[in-house]
Amino acid sequence: AHVAEASRPLRILVVANQKGGVGKTTTAINLGTALAAVGERVLLIDSDPQGNASTGLGVPRAERRVTLYDVLMGGTPLLDAVTPTRLPGLDLAPADPDLSGVEIELGPEARRSFRLRDALEAVRASGRYTYVLIDCPPSLNLLTVNAMTAADAVLVPLQCEFFALEGLSQLMRTVELVRGSLNPRLEIQGVVLTMFDRRNRLSEQVAGDVRSHFGETVYQTVIPRNVRVSEAPSFGKPVLVYDINCAGSQAYLKLAREVVQRERARREAA
Ligand code: ADP
Ligand code: MG
Repeated sequence: AHVAEASRPLRILVVANQKGGVGKTTTAINLGTALAAVGERVLLIDSDPQGNASTGLGVPRAERRVTLYDVLMGGTPLLDAVTPTRLPGLDLAPADPDLSGVEIELGPEARRSFRLRDALEAVRASGRYTYVLIDCPPSLNLLTVNAMTAADAVLVPLQCEFFALEGLSQLMRTVELVRGSLNPRLEIQGVVLTMFDRRNRLSEQVAGDVRSHFGETVYQTVIPRNVRVSEAPSFGKPVLVYDINCAGSQAYLKLAREVVQRERARREAA
């Protein structure tokens, strides 16, 4: 088991939902931090031109010398874009607003959907990481398709609000499309309920609906709405660094253990 652990292949997870404000970036940052905290070696790729994951990890725009744009458009090796964060075990490939040009600049080019996958090959070969997390923009655009084409599995944050399920069927159709043409091995790692508010009956109801619809795919862990989670990014810190004892930090640690557990079960079943 020890040897198998050491030679453990890299897992690439894409955090996607075309809705904005559902907790993608928060989940990418804090799940990444929590995975690093339980001993994984994590690379977070910021694939949103808004660069919120980069800012939230304390890498201001002035410090983003090489970004994902250079990787996707300029052929710069992805490892050259990697910058360490203040957290051991968590590195970042940052984004900047240029990234929004990728869609137009790549035009109808044949391998346009494979740019990120190609770039990740050297990362995989390097053996430096056990997890790559990709934070997506709030859209099912070329950046998201590149991420899904490169990924092993999709992790879907779902905000506990009324229209939560509506967007989900569109997201699942996109996953099916990618599976059918670009990346047959793409799996769903899981759906995580975010910003859950115990005092709000709608939260309970949405959580119930999502669980009856998606069953085991939904993680046991629910991320509560927690003010510490929303404060942390303005300090350029993951909430786990900002306040490890708050409910949000504890929930993301629990989610990390669940993600790792699912991956272990998957490997053992294979
Ligand atoms: P997305 O990346 O999907 O657009 P974000 O992760 O940026 O969403 O979250 C949207 C907003 O909600 C941000 O202001 C973030 O700080 C806040 N937020 C996310 N998760 C929580 C939470 N568990 N508790 C409180 N606020 C949250
Ligand atoms: Mg975001």
